Amino acid sequence: MIIITKLKYKSIVMRTNGGYNGGRIYTYIGEVCVSVNPYRNMTIYGSDYVNHYKGREIFERPPHIFAIADGSYKAMKRRGRDTCIVISGESGSGKTEASKIIMRYIAAVTNASGQAEIERVKNVLLQSNAILEAFGNAKTNRNDNSSRFGKYMDINFDFKGDPVGGHIENYLLEKSRVVLQQPGERNFHSFYQLLSGAQDNDLSKYKLKRDVNAYHFIRQGKASKVDSISDKTDYKAVQQAFKILGFSPENIDAIWRIVSAILHLGNIEFTTDGDTTQVKNQDVTKKIAELLKVDHDNVTKALCHRIIAAKGEVMEKQHNVSEATYGRDAFAKAIYERMFSHIVSGVNKAIEVRSKDSRDRYKYNTVIGVLDIYGFEIFERNSFEQFCINYCNEKLQQLFIELVLRQEQEEYRKEGIEWTAVEYFNNEIICDLVEANHKGLISVLDEACLNVGKVTDEMVLEAMEGKLKGHNHFTTRKLSPSDKELKHVEEFRIRHYAGDVIYNINGFLEKNKDTLFQDFKRLMYSSKDTIISGMWPEGAQHITMTTKRPQTAGTLFKNSMIALTKNLASKEPYYVRCIKPNDQKTPVLFDDERVTHQVNYLGLVENLRVRRAGFAHRQAYDRFLRRYKMISHYTWPNFHSGTDRDGTRIIIDEQGFANDVKYGKTKIFVRSPQTLFALEQARASLI
Ligand code: ADP
Ligand code: MG
Repeated sequence: MIIITKLKYKSIVMRTNGGYNGGRIYTYIGEVCVSVNPYRNMTIYGSDYVNHYKGREIFERPPHIFAIADGSYKAMKRRGRDTCIVISGESGSGKTEASKIIMRYIAAVTNASGQAEIERVKNVLLQSNAILEAFGNAKTNRNDNSSRFGKYMDINFDFKGDPVGGHIENYLLEKSRVVLQQPGERNFHSFYQLLSGAQDNDLSKYKLKRDVNAYHFIRQGKASKVDSISDKTDYKAVQQAFKILGFSPENIDAIWRIVSAILHLGNIEFTTDGDTTQVKNQDVTKKIAELLKVDHDNVTKALCHRIIAAKGEVMEKQHNVSEATYGRDAFAKAIYERMFSHIVSGVNKAIEVRSKDSRDRYKYNTVIGVLDIYGFEIFERNSFEQFCINYCNEKLQQLFIELVLRQEQEEYRKEGIEWTAVEYFNNEIICDLVEANHKGLISVLDEACLNVGKVTDEMVLEAMEGKLKGHNHFTTRKLSPSDKELKHVEEFRIRHYAGDVIYNINGFLEKNKDTLFQDFKRLMYSSKDTIISGMWPEGAQHITMTTKRPQTAGTLFKNSMIALTKNLASKEPYYVRCIKPNDQKTPVLFDDERVTHQVNYLGLVENLRVRRAGFAHRQAYDRFLRRYKMISHYTWPNFHSGTDRDGTRIIIDEQGFANDVKYGKTKIFVRSPQTLFALEQARASLI
């Protein structure tokens, strides 16, 4: 059993007998499950384990993620509570695997009566992963199967506790990857799956060669083959999953045609004679036009010019080569992103609660939400994406601190237990730094985007400096000239709760504005393929119509994060904190330094401190007595000479744990998990 035994040098040392290398990958802090990525297949998820954990109390069994899944399920089923499981940790720490294990557990413990509709829902929920991972995951240097989007999934249950449907919310797909990959990384899996898995005749239908190196958009990382991945097999699984989820053949075809069109887009080159810019290789644009079912002339026009309306007049403006290249990339990213949202809607249609009848019958249904979202990221060079991702983690940390502490304190107060509040760092100040109206970083960025005329990234940084001078968590070279960490003038640093991150301002403006020339929207809307045109309804607008400025990427993300945290806060939370044991993806190395760092920034030390000041476990007297009455002659087989609380006290005193517990109004509070283990053992020795 892994027991966290020491709080040492601000790090938690996992003292293990057997330990990580012995295959014990889970432990608890209170009821927070800490999970260490084993990097090998474990035989701890089979039906024997399911039965071992099913319906049990959390401390009855050794730490396991099943116990968390079961805890949230029980709360939902028995107490009618909406619950959520928040999974956090850095890239490659095992979040997505954890979310799948939780879903499989829930599938395994439900539908005892074997209803066909419930089976269908379970299957559809599980199968949706294959699709979402194909289009939303990629090989990165940290994780061969890294999720490049955030995912929150609600699973709906009926009054009997069986899953009847679900809903997925996706957050900020890292679409820059569609056109650019770092060395050693890949584009989204879908591109490689299509090239390796599709039949010859399908490939020729998509006008593709079976050669990754023929396509600029997917070969930049020079890592197209990944040992741990079979793109061919995965392609088959995705096609199968599409069918199971009820995607029509036309829909599936439209999706792969868009993927193919993007591959071709990457190969477009432009030439210029100084005045006019043209597509050099029109054979490629012809293929794109055919695949997207749009007019070829309109494709080259959208790539080389833009139409602008000024004072009611419509004008054509030539792009120069760099504008054209920018437009091409923005187009590729936008159609991939739109397609991804379209796929998520398709998945949602397949998993939504069916039939009016059942919706009425399940009016009082409850949900379990599972959040699998990108963890805190610090790269060599951090850009707008990391800025958003790290802000997201600040929000979740804020929620974690608030909920874990609030619940804890509330319960102690309610039960009349003495309790000294624990000091902890409140990261609200950092959330405000990013999201506050008017003077938060996102607002400053938005203001710059509103300005017509030439605004540069440097000017944005200056505006930030002006607004945030003196902020304890924000600095730049100008604000702090002697700061050696900031090597370049275009950098700023945020002191996050999880550590300092230096961001490079270059590209912030563009990524926040997220401009896609209207011409492309109209082009897509003009597609003869109704599935494709349906993805671009705004293309219907006439050029002279003054369009409302679309919200910036930063503001959209901020609003979605605020909605997400509000939603999570309304549910009973369960936490899984994932830890990555090393950067080599190997099962044999437990890198103390790396682990310590994660333990610190996940707030586990604070979590532990709060728990230390408090109690690891609490249980209602009647339940406690029912469970442990067999270990005392006074209480076995029945205790008649007092209240449940008196009976509980007799057992505790007899076992010598009087100093480790406190008695609340309705519950006993046990300080250390060891006491609970000892009680469990005493009980087990009698059975
Ligand atoms: P994250 O979502 O946190 O980025 P993943 O869940 O994708 O990380 O995990 C990365 C890899 O680690 C997986 O592809 C798998 O090889 C391995 N892994 C993670 N969790 C487990 C587990 N419980 N059992 C076995 N392997 C795991
Ligand atoms: Mg993941």
